[in-house]
Amino acid sequence: MKTSPCPPALAGFVLPFGLFLCAESVCSAPPPVPAPFRSDRLLILPRSGGHRPALASLHQRTRVNVLRTFPALQGLEVLEVPPDADVPALVEAYRQSGLVAHAEPDYLVRAVGLPNDPSFTNGTQWALHNTGQQGGLPDADIDAPEAWDLQSRAPNVVVAVIDSGIWRTHEDLAANLWVNPAETPGNGLDDDGNGYVDDVHGVNVTTGTGAIGDSAGHGTHLAGILGAVTDNGKGVAGVAWQVQIMTCRFLNSAGHGSISDAVACIDYARLMGAHVINASWVTTEASTALELAVASAREAGIVFVAGAGNDGQDNDLPLITLPNLALDNVIAVAATDAQDRLWNRSNFGAANVDLAAPGVNIHSTFFIADNNYAAMSGSSQAAAFVSGAAALVRAAYSTATPQEVIDRLLYSTDPVPALRGRCRAGGRLNLRGALDPAPVVVWPQAPVVSAGNRGGPFAPDAQAFLILNRGATPLPWSASVTASWLQLEPASGTVSAGDKQTVSVALSPVAATLPRGEYTERVEFLLQTGDGCVEVPWTLRIYEPAMVRLRSAGPAGSGLQLGLTGQPEATYVAESSTNFSSWRPLITNALPASGDTPSFWSDPATNRQLFFRARVWQTN
Ligand code: CA
Ligand code: CA
Ligand code: CA
Repeated sequence: MKTSPCPPALAGFVLPFGLFLCAESVCSAPPPVPAPFRSDRLLILPRSGGHRPALASLHQRTRVNVLRTFPALQGLEVLEVPPDADVPALVEAYRQSGLVAHAEPDYLVRAVGLPNDPSFTNGTQWALHNTGQQGGLPDADIDAPEAWDLQSRAPNVVVAVIDSGIWRTHEDLAANLWVNPAETPGNGLDDDGNGYVDDVHGVNVTTGTGAIGDSAGHGTHLAGILGAVTDNGKGVAGVAWQVQIMTCRFLNSAGHGSISDAVACIDYARLMGAHVINASWVTTEASTALELAVASAREAGIVFVAGAGNDGQDNDLPLITLPNLALDNVIAVAATDAQDRLWNRSNFGAANVDLAAPGVNIHSTFFIADNNYAAMSGSSQAAAFVSGAAALVRAAYSTATPQEVIDRLLYSTDPVPALRGRCRAGGRLNLRGALDPAPVVVWPQAPVVSAGNRGGPFAPDAQAFLILNRGATPLPWSASVTASWLQLEPASGTVSAGDKQTVSVALSPVAATLPRGEYTERVEFLLQTGDGCVEVPWTLRIYEPAMVRLRSAGPAGSGLQLGLTGQPEATYVAESSTNFSSWRPLITNALPASGDTPSFWSDPATNRQLFFRARVWQTN
């Protein structure tokens, strides 16, 4: 049973079988996000082989100064513009000049989630090991104790936390800070000549120095999740007990920053040898400069972990762009709670969000004092779990490419029903699985349960399985089902070393001819190495159709009328005198009948008719 996120005061319409209509604006309340940018900067990419004197002359005419140039990013320039400048007009002027390949405003980015209020052995850290404390679901965790038997330390792995800084002297962090060996602390000099003075544990790109102190708490919190000093009798346990945490500060105390500074941080992390970047911030605008920076990190073999954002939005819609970067070294993370539910404010996306990780009520290190700890929620926190996991995977498999690290993280997740269709993996991080030394893995292995009315359709009606060959030799395999209501393809093949193969298993047309009942079958994978044989149970539950009537139970003056139907599955029509574009139906009560969350759409011409498809069935 699912509870509605809508407050009771909302004008809604409860239907007999539990369909509930509520205003989108109240269901998830994502305020429309403007597209703000810095008024004092813009970014340009000079045309390769372009006429430098002409560009310099344009800079002079428009009264801009070149603040920073990135040789590794095709010569990308950050320009400082005069206080009275019209930034969009200036961007346009550069685009029209023919001297640049690209020009864009310096868009703002913001931290994913900020503090909302002020340890492993007492069970507070449910995400690492969940036994049902705090009302959670046992085993809705990342299986950390099981994983730590395999790998708990990543002493040679550098994770760059590109965020609000870090509380450097924290009792549970100080020993795990990365140290720049070529920089002498406190002498006011840039000893290693990398452009930053006294950058001993990292850099603050807004000051150009090593002043990485945290004024927001966000970065300190993430650092503790991924790599707090562990087994020291203090504070919290990190995912990685030992790791080198590099800090790049670019977010201010309000959690805000800009693309030009984010790019400088990514460039620094690449230059100084980071293996993993944690980017728990989002931007709403596509940025070529950011893409160039993440692509350069990819060339350097860096895994780029991104929080999916906390707007309750579908990232497959073109709104939040950071996790949408179409580069195979980016892994975008949504947040789940202690009951393995997608957090209601977490963004999601079947294509653009890769997996979920714990992100609600997460205890970790905090700023203000060396012994301060706090709980925070967000996909930022979820991303930090994945960053810590990536560090351990990298430590255990030191020759793994970023793509192999990401494959390990994705194809070891615990399948979670609430995440099906909400992220690529449809599951939540499982650290034990990610570190599993088995050379051959079939994923997922959770039992599949399809259900629906007699005659169909059934949901889910298909499942893709992956056979991953992490070994050094080719893997011949075959797969089979015996019942006629399942079909699969292909049925056999060979997966070369380091590669993977998808096997699609689906209900066959026979399923629609079966009488009411419960049917059980096993999908069998025969592997010539590794586990030998893997069996995945598949259950098909066929119900007798229930009679359904729809009626409006909402307040009268709403203008909403619902079409009536006796069909268990049908397209229903709701008509309104007002605009329907911001309404959506939800199933809130599945008893005594069960049902699907219906798909819905409105009449694009008038927006005054709402169509939705729903299905219910008897459960007894
Ligand atoms: Ca330096
Ligand atoms: Ca120095
Ligand atoms: Ca500790």
